[in-house]
Amino acid sequence: MRQFLYEIYNDDALSASVDAIRKELEVFGEAKSLLFHIYCGIDEEGWILTIRDRLYREFPFCEFCGISSNAEIINGALTDPVILLSAMMFKTTDVRVFFFPDVLDHEAETGDQARRIIDDTPDIKAAEILIQGAPVDNLTFLHSLDKCSRDVKIFGGYPISHILEGGRRFIVTEGGVFDNALALITYAGSDFHIDVGHTAGWEPLGRTFTVTKASKNTLYCVDDISAMELYRRYLDIEDDGHFIENSMEFPLLVEDEGMTMLRHCSVTGTEGALELAGYIHNGMKVTMSYGDPIAIVAEVDARAEEVRKFEPEAILIYSCAMRKIFWNYFINNEMAPFQKIATSCGFCTGGELNRDHDTGHIMWHNITMLTIAMREGPKTGRDIPRVSVDTTAMHGQTSLVKRLTTLIKATSDELRQSLSDLTEANEKLLHMATVDELTALYNRREIERRINVALDDVAENGGVVSLVMIDVDHFKRVNDTCGHETGDKILEGVAAVLNATVREYEGEAVGRWGGEEFFMLLPGVTLEQALERAEEIRQTVEMYPFPKIHRLTCSLGVTVVTGAEDKKAIYTRVDNALYEAKETGRNRIVVGEERHNPKPS
Ligand code: GH3
Ligand code: MG
Ligand code: MG
Repeated sequence: MRQFLYEIYNDDALSASVDAIRKELEVFGEAKSLLFHIYCGIDEEGWILTIRDRLYREFPFCEFCGISSNAEIINGALTDPVILLSAMMFKTTDVRVFFFPDVLDHEAETGDQARRIIDDTPDIKAAEILIQGAPVDNLTFLHSLDKCSRDVKIFGGYPISHILEGGRRFIVTEGGVFDNALALITYAGSDFHIDVGHTAGWEPLGRTFTVTKASKNTLYCVDDISAMELYRRYLDIEDDGHFIENSMEFPLLVEDEGMTMLRHCSVTGTEGALELAGYIHNGMKVTMSYGDPIAIVAEVDARAEEVRKFEPEAILIYSCAMRKIFWNYFINNEMAPFQKIATSCGFCTGGELNRDHDTGHIMWHNITMLTIAMREGPKTGRDIPRVSVDTTAMHGQTSLVKRLTTLIKATSDELRQSLSDLTEANEKLLHMATVDELTALYNRREIERRINVALDDVAENGGVVSLVMIDVDHFKRVNDTCGHETGDKILEGVAAVLNATVREYEGEAVGRWGGEEFFMLLPGVTLEQALERAEEIRQTVEMYPFPKIHRLTCSLGVTVVTGAEDKKAIYTRVDNALYEAKETGRNRIVVGEERHNPKPS
């Protein structure tokens, strides 16, 4: 196969191209297929259709498709805005173009029809997809196309306008210039070989978030903070009319089906939401990222080596428009190596499609450079020298960026570690400050704090709170006969009994008041219910198989609070009730009656 490239800027150039193609065809000999791609850097429908008509007239057997582009790549370098014509001649490969002029709202059925065409084409090796991005629901389209035979390579690109924002994005078909069309190009034949790969080179920055609200291409929230807040908080990038320029060097790295994809963003009409240049859905992981020139060059070099070994006769480069903005003057450096291998052409895209080898899923990428290497017939072992990105001129720029990115990475790694140490230490401190060491119940300070909060709430808002104070009977004797250590074990047992009766989800709590005394807070529990609960505790303790002692009992004081009252008086009341239980025989419950007409504290 052969590929020839022409810049069509006027009628004369068009005529000259037609003549040149005819001559090349003569030299080429009999062609099974002639495929024209036009990459349109200018939005002039009339002129585009003139080119289309002329090509069909001169080469009636040709296949034709086109796409709007942000910049055109000819011989591995960007051109000025132009209409770039690629003529691919195939000896044995059957190439066909299929059009779907209206994909919007028919995404699933279009995906199905495209899949059927692919599966019904004998000897098919690859399918190229040129499709409009948003508002077309590409996730639905791709899910339905995904089901096509796993052996078929799928690649493609999304249109974009020459001015990044606001311009027209279109697909050119046999029938005209369309705003939501799909062009499907099938490459079939036993002699046809293709190798598709994409390179990125963007590195994660900061922590990873989980998408909590998203729909189609719109990201609303991650970890319940707004998408816009991510850029505001971590990069000081505001929705001030310059969001795209400021954020494009920090796209989102999103994870789906074990694959990572980059997504650049723009602001939407909805407060806090971002429009991504690709689908996003709930549960996907999202991390901000930065372009690391060293990583990018390494990926491109590795890919160039794969392409070199493939021995292609033609290469298509579909490279995201954002890479051009990222590299600025150096964009040609990352494409030039491919031109040294074979004629390379393509366009700057609004998104790149590539099928993942392992999962079979067709992924929608941003900010990648897709390189599509094609060949007819077996490798010939021709000697292609090794190629790599020329970084000599880039040194000044990249070394500054490299050092800054190293600083960012090291700092964020350290911060991540410190944060996790600090969180752990804080949790430990909080535990120590609120929990009793022996029994693991709340300590006095914490249970008292909780009781006071509950009493304040009743004082202000009404309702009911019951309090139960528990004291182990004759505990001194336990220590005296069994030893202090066994005493400790028994206290742990009593604590376990108490803890088991507490309904934490109702706001109930129990704490160690001191020694062998405990206090229980029961918000929303009436006196009657509190007495039942106290009785349950009394019986359980009495029946409980404590170590080394035959039987243990406890005495309980209970009271209820239903309004504003002096706190000290409440504690005294419970204490007195408990004292009375001791005095009147132990292993009993006594109620400390609520005073009527309580006075506010
Ligand atoms: P009463 O029925 O009147 O409550 O008699 P009592 O012996 O339980 O009461 P008293 O207040 O006289 O004694 C409480 C004992 O509890 C004294 C102390 O040695 C023991 N004690 C307090 N804290 C602990 C502890 O953490 N571990 C152990 N093993 N014993 C404790
Ligand atoms: Mg006591
Ligand atoms: Mg006691």
